[in-house]
Amino acid sequence: MLTLITIKNTNFVYIYIKLVKQKYRVNKKDYRIHIIGAGISGLIAATVLEQKGYSPVIFETTYRVGGRVKTDIISGYQLDHGFQVLLTAYPAAKKYLDYEALELQNFLPGASIFKNGKQEVIGDPMRDVSLLFSTLAANIGTVADKLKILKLNINLKKKTIAEIFSDKEQSTFSYLKELDFSSDIINDFFKPFFSGIFLEDKLETSSRMFQFVYKMFGEGNAALPKAGIEEIPRQLLRKLKSTTFHYDTFVSSILDSKIVLADGQEIESDFTIIATDASNLVPNLKTKPIAWQSCDTLCFETEKRTINKPLIGLIPFQDTIINNIFYYTSLKTKVSAGKELLSVTVVNNQGLSGKALIDRVQQELTKFCGITTSTFIKHYSIPKSLPKLSELHYDISPSDTRLTKNIYLAGDIQLNGSLNAAIIAGEKAALGVIENL
Ligand SMILES: Cc1cc2nc3c(=O)[nH]c(=O)nc-3n(C[C@H](O)[C@H](O)[C@H](O)COP(=O)(O)OP(=O)(O)OC[C@H]3O[C@@H](n4cnc5c(N)ncnc54)[C@H](O)[C@@H]3O)c2cc1C
Repeated sequence: MLTLITIKNTNFVYIYIKLVKQKYRVNKKDYRIHIIGAGISGLIAATVLEQKGYSPVIFETTYRVGGRVKTDIISGYQLDHGFQVLLTAYPAAKKYLDYEALELQNFLPGASIFKNGKQEVIGDPMRDVSLLFSTLAANIGTVADKLKILKLNINLKKKTIAEIFSDKEQSTFSYLKELDFSSDIINDFFKPFFSGIFLEDKLETSSRMFQFVYKMFGEGNAALPKAGIEEIPRQLLRKLKSTTFHYDTFVSSILDSKIVLADGQEIESDFTIIATDASNLVPNLKTKPIAWQSCDTLCFETEKRTINKPLIGLIPFQDTIINNIFYYTSLKTKVSAGKELLSVTVVNNQGLSGKALIDRVQQELTKFCGITTSTFIKHYSIPKSLPKLSELHYDISPSDTRLTKNIYLAGDIQLNGSLNAAIIAGEKAALGVIENL
């Protein structure tokens, strides 16, 4: 009896102290809210928390913000860590990014396809009339295919994003077959173009993602900031005023209200947002570790360009390792050493690495694109490029980001592998914390 009363009393005292503590955290800034990861998602979570008057603390294992969105200056050129683009129609990007300040440089809405020793340009003539003639004349797909592409554009403009993400899950390949596209247009255009986006060469990615990305391409531009893709996280960082950053700080585990750093330090936390893969951070987490799509990006300096306009170049052959090429210098860049900067994306490196990979890429550049001289600058091997998710979502409610009493989840892995998803997930996790406060 006595022990029971003591236990009850102890519990009461504990709850009382906690309530008093909460009560006297009258200042929103006193809440200890931590964010793990300074990628796009973590930065957006901090933005939303700051907007509501909180002062979060971010732990980031590398020495700078950006996560998968980074740009290096090497040999006088701006090199992005992997070729990626911002689709200006992304609703969440429109909400949080200042496009004008990013000085966005737009791609043309099409692709230059290297086939049978020729370059065939196809694109969306409704958005850029200069592509009309080449698209109609291109020996890529049948006339019926070109009409079906037009019809798909119109249909996806009418379809809402919510409708797209409630469609049945099927592979992009089977979706294209269902729409009755010919094997030629699938192999010559859809496969190389979307393999470069999904970073897998079988089009196994959900047709929800295909429809979403296709809709975004149709409703806006593919663009890059003039200073490179990292200008996006830099812009978010510049706007943060009351967030504290701890760089070069690896978080090794997270218990409900305690964060353990790699050096053993333990930090008390009222709320923690994990804006990266949480599977190794939270003990006993029941989710499976995330599987990832990987890719290699190789950068070369060339004397001249084989694609004059800002168009992505595709190589539609089964046994090639190059998936796509792009001349960064076909767009305006802040920094340039004066010659041309070529980026080559390899989705399936067929086990090649190091010099063997560089040699093979250079051989293919010569054979298929007529690029006979190129000086190698840098190879980015990116094993964790995009999360392989079995079910893709567009959005999540703030309360669904909550993992435990004090832990919330963010990061593109919660929804789908895109900048838009990283932004939404960061926003919703921050709102989840705020809702609970
Ligand atoms: C090659 C490539 C091409 C892409 N192409 C496109 C594209 O064209 N369009 C598009 O919309 N998206 C594209 N993406 C996807 C887009 O970049 C990502 O969806 C987005 O950047 C994910 O942001 P995030 O904040 O969720 O995750 P991340 O950027 O991965 O950020 C996680 C952060 O957490 C940090 N971290 C991890 N573990 C710890 C730890 N234990 N302790 C402390 N810090 C930790 C990491 O260092 C990192 O900074 C591409 C990605 C790649 C790699």
